[in-house]
Amino acid sequence: MSKFLKVKCGCGNEQTIFAHSSSKVGCLVCSKELATPTGAQVKLAEGVSIVKVL
Ligand SMILES: [Zn+2]
Repeated sequence: MSKFLKVKCGCGNEQTIFAHSSSKVGCLVCSKELATPTGAQVKLAEGVSIVKVL
């Protein structure tokens, strides 16, 4: 099971996030919400894609 995901925001920013974060993760560039906690792997927001599983 992966622990970190490299994701790409709609603004073009690529950011590494914790796959099992227990809090919301926002983009550091545009402040858009990237991922929400689910209890398991985070759910990515619309427009956010996984670049790489780390
Ligand atoms: Zn962004």
